[in-house]
Amino acid sequence: MRNILDFTLDELRTTFVEELSEPRYRADQVWRWLWRSLAHDFACMTNVSVKTRERLAEEFTITWPRVVTIQKAQDSTTKFLLELDDGARVETVLIPSTDHLGKTRWSQCLSTQVGCPMACTFCATGQLGFERNMSMGEMLGQLLVGRDYVQDLAPEHPIIKNVVFMGMGEPLLNCDNLIRALFVLNDPHGLGFSPRRITVSTCGIPAGLTRLGETGLCYLALSLHAPNQSIREQIMPKAAQTSLNTLLAHLRSYPVKPREHITFEYLLLRGVNDELHHARELAKIVNAQNGKLNLIVYNKTSHARYEPPEPERVLAFEQELWKHHVTATLRASKGQDIDAACGQLRARS
Ligand code: SAH
Repeated sequence: MRNILDFTLDELRTTFVEELSEPRYRADQVWRWLWRSLAHDFACMTNVSVKTRERLAEEFTITWPRVVTIQKAQDSTTKFLLELDDGARVETVLIPSTDHLGKTRWSQCLSTQVGCPMACTFCATGQLGFERNMSMGEMLGQLLVGRDYVQDLAPEHPIIKNVVFMGMGEPLLNCDNLIRALFVLNDPHGLGFSPRRITVSTCGIPAGLTRLGETGLCYLALSLHAPNQSIREQIMPKAAQTSLNTLLAHLRSYPVKPREHITFEYLLLRGVNDELHHARELAKIVNAQNGKLNLIVYNKTSHARYEPPEPERVLAFEQELWKHHVTATLRASKGQDIDAACGQLRARS
């Protein structure tokens, strides 16, 4: 049977009209139940006739990822180990922050693939190898799990404010499903995320970048991690098959909205890419693209062959960037004590 969460709203409307001889608005009603009310079954959809509900239950399932374990870090970062329909396992992470009124807001980090084929040398997911792409329903099913959890935690503010596609996998190698997921995320009848609240992070797949840019449905973050081609080849050999020059040329033609910037992500690895001359090389790249920079200090993984730089080194690197007029911010690492931080996701149980 088909998982109804794998349909976009347009696809659902067409299916209702053509296959089920139901009116279009019925698809919209069911849609709201699925994505707004977090319905787990058709029986609860009380504004739909009993007969139609039975028919729907014969045609479709509503399959959420199954929660295997939930781990909460000292800083409240919460990691879910999820099992998909075929037994494959992925992780998603809820990351808390506090707004100016002192309310907790959550960002959710979503996975897009089971494993990852890019094999970046510093990333735990990359060491797992690639199993398969996640479907759209599986990707957004993670968000349903997250919403459900946050709603139980704080019924008055069940707010997941931002979604970042920075979990397991390379989003632009699963571009069809990713773009469908972005449309569903944006849909005002459903999840209603504005593009400013969605970030897709990629190591840079040219064909995917072109397609993603055309949608205008999210911010772009680019995992650069190296100030030149030779270091990039050394630490992310597969991504570096697209040369840095080619990649940067693609980014120059990436459509960026007024007042928006591409964010470059730069992972600091001790003795590899953390010298001040690297910072200056990096500044040239980021400034030429009118981009912003997110510095990330390496989080150790169990395959660790790298070390994070000393805090003074990190600060000096950051200051060198500022000196060269780069808007650089240090990404606060959250959830390290439960292996939920960047690059630590590997879905072990
Ligand atoms: N494949 C995508 C998205 C997943 S990784 C991408 O490459 O962007 C999300 C971010 O975490 C990336 O910037 C990634 O390079 C970074 N990351 C990977 N391993 C890390 C580690 N050990 N410590 C800190 N950040 C890491």
